[in-house]
Amino acid sequence: MISLKHINKSYEGKTVLNDISVDFPAGKTTVILGPSGSGKSTLLRSIDLLVRPESGSVEFPNLTYDYSKPISKKDSFSLRQKTSMVFQNWNLFPNLTVLKNITTAPMTVLGQSKAEAEKHAKELIKRVGLAGLEERYPSQLSGGQQQRISICRALAMNPEYILLDEPTSALDPELETQVLRILEELCKQGQSMVIVTHNMDFARLVSDKIVFIEDGTKVYDGDTKDFFENPTPRIKDFLSGIS
Ligand code: ATP
Ligand code: MG
Repeated sequence: MISLKHINKSYEGKTVLNDISVDFPAGKTTVILGPSGSGKSTLLRSIDLLVRPESGSVEFPNLTYDYSKPISKKDSFSLRQKTSMVFQNWNLFPNLTVLKNITTAPMTVLGQSKAEAEKHAKELIKRVGLAGLEERYPSQLSGGQQQRISICRALAMNPEYILLDEPTSALDPELETQVLRILEELCKQGQSMVIVTHNMDFARLVSDKIVFIEDGTKVYDGDTKDFFENPTPRIKDFLSGIS
């Protein structure tokens, strides 16, 4: 389990996250929902220190990091190894082949041998249905294929959690479906995930819990079924697309 406790973050004096505490259970998929600008990406990025809140803490089993205190390089390194982020705009290295995009970090950061890293990478590529494309460059892949390779790259680091920020928002609907299927599959396999998405059907299908935030404040934190079937008036408006 990862827990964020009493997170506060502001930019230029404006509060963006207001005393947010959330648990992200292991082996489950948590989906973060909320209107644009509500603080979803900021919350997700707080988990792996891409964003540094002013106060609060992030807790892993046997490990707590207090954001208000300096975090050593060693601690931030070990924290980042527990999570892997997949970005909205796939950010593969354009000058490296698909295979090298996936194997570089496991070799340099985790110290895996080339053979070991390539074996794992090939398994992952196969798992996302892209066997045979190992030697291509990112520019020779469709957007959906690139995003699937980005997911492989995250998985290659053997993270405890995968963090995804709108993983399909830059894709057209057909390619979106390909990527969502992979995520659904990972979800079934019990991969721990935290996903920010605007796709309500997907959220409903894959999530075990929903966190809804608005103006940096947590409005809902609980069961997916309850969120969709017994929405409060505010959540009802959100779901019907009013905001
Ligand atoms: P969206 O659905 O549009 O991606 P979001 O819920 O992910 O929105 P965030 O990106 O977390 O929202 O932003 C929350 C608020 O913080 C917004 O008002 C945004 O303008 C502000 N913000 C985010 N990053 C920065 C930054 N680096 N500097 C200043 N303000 C920022
Ligand atoms: Mg965002």
